[in-house]
Amino acid sequence: MSAINSIDLVELTNNIKAWGVALGFQQVGISDIDLHQHEAHLQAWLDAGYHGDMAFMESHGMKRARPDELVPGTLRVISVRMNYLPPDASFAKHLNSPDIGYISRYALGRDYHKVLRKRLKQLGEKITNALSDTQYRPFVDSAPVLEHAIAEKAGIGWTGKHSLTLNKDAGSWFFLGELFINLPLPVDTPVEENCGTCTACLTICPTNAIVAPYKVDARRCISYLTIESDSDIPEALRPSMGNRIYGCDDCQLICPWNRFSDITTEEDFHPRQVLHGKSLNTLFSWSEETFLANTEGSPIRRIGYEKWQRNIAVALGNAPFNEMSIQLLTQRRGMVSDLVDRHIDWALAQQQAKASSETDATRQQKRLIRAIEKGLPRDA
Ligand code: SF4
Ligand code: SF4
Repeated sequence: MSAINSIDLVELTNNIKAWGVALGFQQVGISDIDLHQHEAHLQAWLDAGYHGDMAFMESHGMKRARPDELVPGTLRVISVRMNYLPPDASFAKHLNSPDIGYISRYALGRDYHKVLRKRLKQLGEKITNALSDTQYRPFVDSAPVLEHAIAEKAGIGWTGKHSLTLNKDAGSWFFLGELFINLPLPVDTPVEENCGTCTACLTICPTNAIVAPYKVDARRCISYLTIESDSDIPEALRPSMGNRIYGCDDCQLICPWNRFSDITTEEDFHPRQVLHGKSLNTLFSWSEETFLANTEGSPIRRIGYEKWQRNIAVALGNAPFNEMSIQLLTQRRGMVSDLVDRHIDWALAQQQAKASSETDATRQQKRLIRAIEKGLPRDA
């Protein structure tokens, strides 16, 4: 008899959940590996080209919906979630400050890939200690894994109309991770969809990227444009990006279920002061060395200095007229790359257009003051 047959899998599952919570996960669920009902949706999304330049989304084919083809021998997926909302959630107010760089909440702290992968590995080791036949492989935000579909089956939450996982008691401000495993553990009950008639995320999306419920056109999504895309940001979308320089949280900020969000207990996810609430001028003036130093251990480092500069140039173009911004943009021209220069040129054109209207307004104001002083009609 193999070791697997001789162990009480119900007891082992209870232990796995307790170990996961002790390791800092807020929830641990178990899913089977039958995701065939998601294959048609995935294929239609790819066929529509909604994945943009993310060739890796296509290259894994239907392996994404077939965990045992990705990791042979997989029988179950352990799905975990970890909260990342800090006690002070005031970051949303920066969306109303157009000269401050808005960075998506999840990216202000330490790189979650590292934090979650390490804990998942520890969980895998604990299971192996209990049952030596165990084989496992951790994944965190990994292209070949349908994490939201798995989380739904594992009882973690349902996939909202914005395509993220939502939990009734915790909202959506959490990271997901998966442990593929070769044990026939008892599975959890899938979560029912609970968006109801709400369409708030579709309406609020600044770039209309949620083209239909549960369907996000990544090519329009600010998260994709500022993080994944290596190309020019389409000019038509730039004004809608506002001051969002790394990712976007609007569809989560508006979601009514996030009223129930839990606060993170992980200090690693607390915002770094050097990134949080800083002016666009300050962030744009960083040298590459400063960028690398200030983003060490942060997910932002992954996009590199060129895309960082590209994104901030767009935000500077959207910001109110500012002489210092014009000066910084002009100085940086020709120093990074053609890609950055094209965005700088656009930003300068926006700033100069605002400078002219500023001048018109100032002129009008002066005329008005003169007229009042002289007692002349106001249009004199
Ligand atoms: S992250 Fe922003 S741009 Fe992307 S779908 Fe959500 S609201 Fe739209
Ligand atoms: S905003 Fe509304 S529709 Fe969108 S995910 Fe939240 S509950 Fe669902």
